[in-house]
Amino acid sequence: MPRQWRRLQPWPLFVAMAFCAFTQPSFAIDQEASATALLDQAESLRTIDNPRFLRLLEEIRQSYPHLSVHEHWKLRYLEAWQASFQGDYAHADPLLQDVIDHAGDPALVAKASAVLIDDMGSNKRYGEAFELANRLVADLPNTEDKLARFFVLFYVSQLLRSAGQYELAANYASQALALSSGEAACPATALLLTVRYESHKLTSTSPELQQGINICQAANEPVYMDSIWLLKSSLYLDEDQPGKTVALLQRIAPSVRSNHYYANMLASQVELAQAYLKLGDDASARRAALAALALSDPDDISESLRDTYQVLYLLDKKHGDSAAALANYEHYVTQNNGYLNDISARALAYAMAQQHMLVQKFETEKLSRQNNILRLQQALDTKAVEAGRLYIALLLMVLASVIFWLFRLRRSQLRFKKLSRHDGLTAIYNHQHFVSEADHALQLLKKKAGAACLVSIDLDYFKQINDTHGHAVGDAVLRHTVALCRLQLRPGDLFGRLGGEEFGILLVGCARDQGKAIADRIRMAIESSPVNEDGCVVSFSASIGMASTDTSGYELQRLRREADAALYRAKRTGRNRVIADTQGDGLVGV
Ligand code: GH3
Ligand code: MG
Ligand code: MG
Repeated sequence: MPRQWRRLQPWPLFVAMAFCAFTQPSFAIDQEASATALLDQAESLRTIDNPRFLRLLEEIRQSYPHLSVHEHWKLRYLEAWQASFQGDYAHADPLLQDVIDHAGDPALVAKASAVLIDDMGSNKRYGEAFELANRLVADLPNTEDKLARFFVLFYVSQLLRSAGQYELAANYASQALALSSGEAACPATALLLTVRYESHKLTSTSPELQQGINICQAANEPVYMDSIWLLKSSLYLDEDQPGKTVALLQRIAPSVRSNHYYANMLASQVELAQAYLKLGDDASARRAALAALALSDPDDISESLRDTYQVLYLLDKKHGDSAAALANYEHYVTQNNGYLNDISARALAYAMAQQHMLVQKFETEKLSRQNNILRLQQALDTKAVEAGRLYIALLLMVLASVIFWLFRLRRSQLRFKKLSRHDGLTAIYNHQHFVSEADHALQLLKKKAGAACLVSIDLDYFKQINDTHGHAVGDAVLRHTVALCRLQLRPGDLFGRLGGEEFGILLVGCARDQGKAIADRIRMAIESSPVNEDGCVVSFSASIGMASTDTSGYELQRLRREADAALYRAKRTGRNRVIADTQGDGLVGV
């Protein structure tokens, strides 16, 4: 459960604080100081006293019109850091790229790259982040500056963690920890503990938790300390000890409140809501869940918000308030889909970057072999040595084998790409690819004011089919459903498996009434075509929800929300039916 991705953000703020331990800040500003000394001083003051840091940068710009090359780039880097610190990525990223491309100083390049990786991660540019991380790690042996090494190890570990590469992430975090001593050990320890928590290597009684808390307490880093406490309270929750979760969260509440660190405040409210729900204290659970919502931006997509809406939905359902339950269930589904998409995007970006690196390695090898052959051929022209010819033949064979491997690798890359887009059982689009294709198709339709319908299909009582006839028959039912749907689709329609026995169809160029007719034909085909697997005849049905651009606009998220709500309504009103939305909340049965 990767809860900590959000909890330890924003990294630039807190990590930079800990970095001060490396840079030995000097607080008295020396009027006679050189620009280099002032720049160092500024770097150490970044987060301890940000206004003073900014004044120092201004003073350097005013008083030192002729900076050396190194000083010029260091100033640029600090300006970029400040923009990133303020979340102004549009300004920060080109500046950082400029430093990376032109500064020439390995330490500055490494620091700027690490900040850029973090910016890219925050902006979901995972592919670029991994490409950059690969280059940084390859350059690490040439980076002698201790602070720059720490930056690289820390941020790369953080990025790998976000892609679920826990073993590698732990390895980099441990290297960062080995580099840091005293106060600077706190963030690396917190990161390592987070990785271990997410890879399910901790229990609430693991002694490392207490050791981490002690390290961060000694370093006077209450934010990290609270983050570790929150790991512990979350472990209590996972271990079904909600009473202990509540007690611990109440104990750290004053510290969490006074530090004003958004991610910790949010996490503690969400955990509190979940714990109270388990304890049956519904009023407190609702209060904590609403407090979590009040802290969040309504456009956010996160695991915290998903958990919060789940608590609210379960509470409403328990108290029989079905209208509120439906609304919160819709939010829950939106959050869950968005969050799962984000996780697969990160994992996919990592896998793609690894493949890309392998191809590049082979390409380089191929080039160097070709050069060797050319050189030898030149030597032969003058000396005509027999043995040399033999050697050329050998080298040609090696070259052929490298080309062969390159070819296989390319093919496996293509296969991998196909696999990453299609569902293994039914060969239709998988969830993530369906979403991205549907999004693209809707953008195009919007430009030419075309129409489309989004159809959500969920098989009824599918679990019972598995339980009664076995998983193999269940799989056959899923394949059969896909075949039946395909018969009703036209070229250009998009079809994907959204989950276990849930499918999505985007009927492109299709008005609302036409969409309803197709959805109903699909439902009738499913109802009247039992599957026949190994002599076992199984009848089954499906519930279908539909939303149309005619009434819901072209935004995929909204269409999905409304199709899912219609589907939910189809289930609640007896299954084996199609429900199409009208606008917003008004739902009309077909
Ligand atoms: P409802 O009518 O409310 O939709 O009930 P349901 O039983 O269809 O829904 P539920 O979500 O309870 O069960 C879905 C089941 O689908 C549970 C899971 O084991 C099964 N499932 C998920 N993926 C696969 C798969 O690939 N193959 C098979 N055979 N079963 C799967
Ligand atoms: Mg389902
Ligand atoms: Mg179902």
